[in-house]
Amino acid sequence: REAEAWATRFAEARTRDGHRVEVAANLGNTAHAADAVERGAEGVGLLRTEFLFMAHAKLPDLETQIAEYREAIDALDGRPLVARTLDVGGDKPLPYWPVPQETNPFLGLRGIRLTLTRPDVLETQLRALLMAAAPAAGVDQAPAAGVNQKPKPLRIMLPMIKDVAEFRAAREIVDRLLAEIPAEERASDLQLGVMVEVPSCALLAPSLAAEVDFFSVGTNDLTQYTLAIDRDHPVLSAEADGLHPSVLKLIEMTVAAAHAQGKWVGVCGELASDATAVPVLVGLGVDELSVSARQIPLVKARLAEFDLADAQTQARLALAQATSEAVRDALEVR
Ligand code: PEP
Ligand code: MG
Repeated sequence: REAEAWATRFAEARTRDGHRVEVAANLGNTAHAADAVERGAEGVGLLRTEFLFMAHAKLPDLETQIAEYREAIDALDGRPLVARTLDVGGDKPLPYWPVPQETNPFLGLRGIRLTLTRPDVLETQLRALLMAAAPAAGVDQAPAAGVNQKPKPLRIMLPMIKDVAEFRAAREIVDRLLAEIPAEERASDLQLGVMVEVPSCALLAPSLAAEVDFFSVGTNDLTQYTLAIDRDHPVLSAEADGLHPSVLKLIEMTVAAAHAQGKWVGVCGELASDATAVPVLVGLGVDELSVSARQIPLVKARLAEFDLADAQTQARLALAQATSEAVRDALEVR
């Protein structure tokens, strides 16, 4: 099965009946983008930029960040890059950015909440991303007249958003940069979206959908915050199953709100590569699955095993259950 999946890894990801779902890679290191493409990635669906920051002893400056983002953009050769802005705090401290001692770091200064306390840091990162995706960036010689350059689709994603106010605060910085940086020196194909990791974001998805360009569901944190179970808890983490009907309902709400406004929805948490969950997510209407690079061939092969209508039936069945065990029992006997 693995050999077969590997042989067809470059095919566009589709269900058996041809419904298109993009399959992209989660990356923590821009040097791994080329490998992800070699494994069949149709883009990067989540670049965890905090790992780039953690690899440095101090805040990486503008040039350093541009060079690193450009490495991924060049390797992607026209495929989209979804880059998440710095997501530290909680379980991921940044040694040179001390956060006051907190009793509950997962409920404290992390993700967008933390970066909005240092808008200069966020602004440098946003500027680096915008400049790294400039049409001519990374091209040593100007292309001959009339030669089409590949687009460099850039999607910037904000972590841990709880409501539209946080999104607007970040968008203000992006809008200012877009006005400031000459058009030829920055991304020409930009979308600005949010991660759905906090239940509030899914519950308020209709108000966000009017303003964001896309959503990507981070099922790891969304499950943790919905079930109130630490995702790394030594005893309880096995119960933090993203196939819990409460989490599925939040995903359903997000998709409904997004699609009503013509916006797309990805899933970039662990659930996106769970063989049982894949048809459920597709049935809920998810447009993109972003998974670790080595899972890409398998997820593409999994998609090719079912039709959209089966997936919708599975999603309805899952939503009708009362516990994650019941969801798995109901789906796995099929
Ligand atoms: C998530 O929360 O599902 C996610 C993809 O982000 P991270 O795992 O980096 O917190
Ligand atoms: Mg997360």
